[in-house]
Amino acid sequence: MTPLATLQKRALAEMRKPGPDMRRAIATAHSAATYAAIKERTGVMPKGLSRAERNDLKARVAEQLTYYDKFAAQAGDMSEAAVGARAQLYVGAVKATYFGARYPGLPTYPGSGTTACKTNCGCDLDERDDGIHWILNESLENCDDCQALAAGSPYEAT
Ligand SMILES: [Zn+2]
Repeated sequence: MTPLATLQKRALAEMRKPGPDMRRAIATAHSAATYAAIKERTGVMPKGLSRAERNDLKARVAEQLTYYDKFAAQAGDMSEAAVGARAQLYVGAVKATYFGARYPGLPTYPGSGTTACKTNCGCDLDERDDGIHWILNESLENCDDCQALAAGSPYEAT
């Protein structure tokens, strides 16, 4: 399993029901994704984050917790399946945080919510000789935005 898949799986297991644990799991997952991505990029696990990395992470977590808090306010009326579906979305958003720290400077990232598929995005990024390629998930129906992003590959990370 990739580092991203591993931490997504762990996060999902911690998001079984709404509450402080789920809220904390969201923040923890984005933090872990940032560290894992920097380790992939640089080859070493960072001891801490730069100011820019910290600010990016803070913004991502704040955005996700805003969604979470709205969800938690009405979660009492939601079925277990609906809660599970929501947890999937939060875990999907972790992908964008991971790729944002792995390949900084791209126009957008899978799971960032800027594509029509939102955080359900099944796409991937792949680093090749000519740059970063946006890879569609052939087992899914890919949205127009992701198809355009794939067609626009490669991208240059900063
Ligand atoms: Zn997509």
